[in-house]
Amino acid sequence: MNPWHLEAVTARENVRRGISPAAMHAKKTTCKNGHPLVHGKKQRVCIICLRASQARWMKKARAENPEKYRALYKAWWAKNGKHQRKRKSTNESTPG
Ligand SMILES: [Zn+2]
Repeated sequence: MNPWHLEAVTARENVRRGISPAAMHAKKTTCKNGHPLVHGKKQRVCIICLRASQARWMKKARAENPEKYRALYKAWWAKNGKHQRKRKSTNESTPG
């Protein structure tokens, strides 16, 4: 082996150049459905697929336990609904 053919790189770069699952994943720039990946808190995620997955989960959860989510929405509106109505009524002045 010719030592001049070696290159000193960081462990991270060395792994990235290999064919390990981590290296294969690091090379990806799109999800399996072709959407661009963005940096999340810990890993790169596809926002489009993530939102779709959350919507599917929420639809299933609502179908299984409608009373729970009805109560949650009612509580949310009791707490936040007032502010939204107030904001709309204050915006009545028109210039001219
Ligand atoms: Zn996607």
